[in-house]
Amino acid sequence: MSQRLILWLSTWILVCAGIALLLGRLHGRFRTDRKRITQREGALKERVKELESERERWQASTVERERSIQEIGGLYQLSKQFLATLDWEEAQQITQEALAKWMPSFKESDRNQYLQRMKSLVEQGQVSVEALLQSIPLAGTDFSARDRWAIVSGQLALGLQRVSLYRQVQETASQDGLTGLLVRRNFLERLDDEIDRALRRSASLAFLMVDLDRFKQVNDTYGHLVGDVVLREIARRIHSSVREMDLVGRYGGEEFAVALPDAGLELGIQIAERIRLGVEEAPIHAYDEEIRITVSIGVALYPLHAATSDQLIEKGDRAMYKAKALGRNQTVTAAERTT
Ligand code: GH3
Ligand code: MG
Ligand code: MG
Repeated sequence: MSQRLILWLSTWILVCAGIALLLGRLHGRFRTDRKRITQREGALKERVKELESERERWQASTVERERSIQEIGGLYQLSKQFLATLDWEEAQQITQEALAKWMPSFKESDRNQYLQRMKSLVEQGQVSVEALLQSIPLAGTDFSARDRWAIVSGQLALGLQRVSLYRQVQETASQDGLTGLLVRRNFLERLDDEIDRALRRSASLAFLMVDLDRFKQVNDTYGHLVGDVVLREIARRIHSSVREMDLVGRYGGEEFAVALPDAGLELGIQIAERIRLGVEEAPIHAYDEEIRITVSIGVALYPLHAATSDQLIEKGDRAMYKAKALGRNQTVTAAERTT
C-alpha cells in the first residue's frame, strides 16, 4: 500500500514538475516575443515619423513648384501682352497691371511715380532693365520680390524699347506702317491746310472720327495678328469709301480720322454711313477666322460745328463717343456750336 502511494505520489510530482517546466518555458518565450514586438513597434513608429516628415517636405516643395509654375505662366502672359503692343497708352496699362500683380506692396503713388519715370525714359529713348530697376523703390521689399521685379523689368524694358522705337519711326514716317494711311501728325498738318483753304474759299469740310466697336475683344479672342488684319482691312474699306481728294489717317490704335474737303453735312453723313455699312455687312477674313465687326462714327462739320481743326476733332470725337453710348454701330452728328 505504501509502495503504491509512493509510486502515485512520485508520478504526480513528475507530472507537476513537467507542467511547471513547460509553463516556465512558455512564459520565457512569451516575454521574448513581447520584447521583440515592442522593439518592432518602436522601429515602425520611427519609420512612420520619417515618412510623415518626408510627406510634409514633398507637400511644401509641390506648393513651391506650383507657385513657380504660376509665376512663369504670369511672366509669359506679361511678355506676350507686351510683345503684342506698340501702343504707349496700352503699354502703361499693362505696366499698371504688372505692378499690381508683381509688387502688391506698392502704393498707388509709387505706381504713378514709376510710370512717370518710365514715360521720361521712353521719351529719352533710354529704357533699360537697370534704369527700370532703379526706378522702383525696393527698400523694405523682400528678396524674392526684388528678384521677381528684376525679371519683370526685363520684360517691360524689351516691350518699352519696341514701343519707343515704333514711336520714333512713326514720328518720322508720313504713312502708318500697318494700314498705309496717313499717320496722325501728318493727317493733322494736312487737315490744318485744308481748313485754311476752306476758310479762304468760304467752303465747308466734313470730319469723321471712326472707332472700332469692342475691338479689344477681337484681340483677346483671336490674338493681335488677327486684330492687325482686321485693322488693315477696315483701313482699306474706309479708303475705298471716300473720294481721291479726301484725307484718311490712323488717328489712334483703332481710331481712324477722315477729312472730306468741300463736303457739306449731308455728304459727310452719307460717307459715314457708307463706311459703317461697308464694315458691318461683310465679315473680315483673317487667317482662318471670319470676323464680324462694326464701327461707331462721329461727324462734325467746319464751320457749322467748329471754328478750328482742334475743335473739329473734339466735336467729331465727342459725337463718336455719343454713338458708343447709344449702343455702337451708328453715326452721330455733332451738336451745333453755340457761339
Ligand atoms: P469700344 O467699343 O468702347 O471702342 O471698345 P474697344 O474694345 O474697341 O476699345 P478699347 O479702347 O478698350 O480697346 C482698343 C483696343 O485696340 C486695345 C488695343 O489692344 C487695340 N489696338 C490698338 N492698336 C492696335 C494695333 O495696332 N493692333 C491690334 N491688333 N490691336 C490694337
Ligand atoms: Mg474701339
Ligand atoms: Mg478707341
